[in-house]
Amino acid sequence: MKNLSKTRNDKSTMKLETSPVLQHSQYDIIIIGGGINGLTAAASLAEYDFSIALVEKNSIAQRLKKFRDGRGISIAKYSRGILERYNIWPYITKKEVGEIHKIIVKDGDSASQLKFDNQLINNQPLGFLIESDNIIEGLYQKILTHKNITLIEEQECCNISFTKHNVSIHLNDNTIQSTIAVVAEGKNSRIRSLLDLPHKSKDYHQTAIICNISHSLPHKNHAYEHFLPRGPFALLPLQDQHKSSVIWTENSDITKLKLSVKELQQFLQEKCKDTHGDIKIVTKVSYFPLSLSYMRDYFKERAVFIGDCLHSIHPLAGQGYNLSLRDINAITQLFTEYYNLGLDIGSQALLNKFTKQRKKDNFAMISITDGLNKLFSNDISIIQSVRRVGLDLVDNIPTLQKFFMKYAMGKK
Ligand SMILES: Cc1cc2nc3c(=O)[nH]c(=O)nc-3n(C[C@H](O)[C@H](O)[C@H](O)COP(=O)(O)OP(=O)(O)OC[C@H]3O[C@@H](n4cnc5c(N)ncnc54)[C@H](O)[C@@H]3O)c2cc1C
Repeated sequence: MKNLSKTRNDKSTMKLETSPVLQHSQYDIIIIGGGINGLTAAASLAEYDFSIALVEKNSIAQRLKKFRDGRGISIAKYSRGILERYNIWPYITKKEVGEIHKIIVKDGDSASQLKFDNQLINNQPLGFLIESDNIIEGLYQKILTHKNITLIEEQECCNISFTKHNVSIHLNDNTIQSTIAVVAEGKNSRIRSLLDLPHKSKDYHQTAIICNISHSLPHKNHAYEHFLPRGPFALLPLQDQHKSSVIWTENSDITKLKLSVKELQQFLQEKCKDTHGDIKIVTKVSYFPLSLSYMRDYFKERAVFIGDCLHSIHPLAGQGYNLSLRDINAITQLFTEYYNLGLDIGSQALLNKFTKQRKKDNFAMISITDGLNKLFSNDISIIQSVRRVGLDLVDNIPTLQKFFMKYAMGKK
């Protein structure tokens, strides 16, 4: 039996294998999709002796060069622990890391405010802010140091088929096989459709507008979440005291009008002047249409789903990647446990265990984010009053504050 003890590879002997000339066609694990979640799964599993292929239809290096979207990803404290466990944290923190020490939640124009202060929990940061492109770049660099990963870029997975002990992934030019396929194709998964797996979806008719701003006043590591009737407006602190990341959710009909940078800057100036002083947009502005989608079944035969194809949630709490990290941690632990015992890593028993371990937490987060968006994105007066009482209540009860802070930090 293969020993799956943790292995560290020597960078000097690393050689990157790329498609279409494949040295092998049989792997332990094939990961389909080289977005943030597929790369994280590969970088975690690579710590063990599995032979892994990662298939991505685009060139990751080209994407990093040409299509950086500037999205800030907030990483909860518990997620940092997962990233440290698989030696990913040092790679993704080579560039900027913002620390969140205080979160201030505001409801519309009311005076109701809810403050989560890290002084209540021994001054530990409540979370970290890293640009999604920097995370992807760090993951990519880590993967290049592992000789047990074959990176197959600019090849699309076009079909999938199964035998009793194997899964075959049909690419544009090749077919490769493995014991298990981990599907990380994102929200519009092709394999999910090919396997006829049902998923629930709902269009929020909202669009997230993302950019970074510089500002004259220091942010003091405070994050602001301002719930407005058409969607939340968040300001998250970057490493530089005078730079923050903006996530502004608006009704899609309004964002279709595509505000000019000048108009957008005026809006932001109005929203931020009291807390951040004079502001300026310093990156390109990106737009993300928002919808909820999630799968009922987490696997079929020898294909298991992770990332946004399994669940794609509203970004208002910054939890999508954090949730997927917990799925990736669970599946990595199960794969290593089964492999070390000489058991089949594509067995239904393992995949059922994965579903059982993860479904409750995932469903709770889907419901919380969807519910919060419904609760805050309306101005019916009775609902407004109830939520303002709720904010004041939590703000005045330290035990409740600690409970919510720990949940936001990823502790269940
Ligand atoms: C505005 C916004 C802000 C967010 N903020 C946060 C935050 O603060 N914190 C947080 O935790 N989460 C956040 N999220 C969520 C997080 O960004 C997503 O969960 C995550 O980016 C999804 O990554 P993914 O790898 O699952 O999917 P994707 O990024 O869609 O990647 C899928 C990859 O698979 C490839 N692919 C697809 N099909 C095939 C195929 N057939 N063959 C080969 N390759 C294929 C694609 O080319 C792509 O590279 C935010 C999301 C949004 C929209």
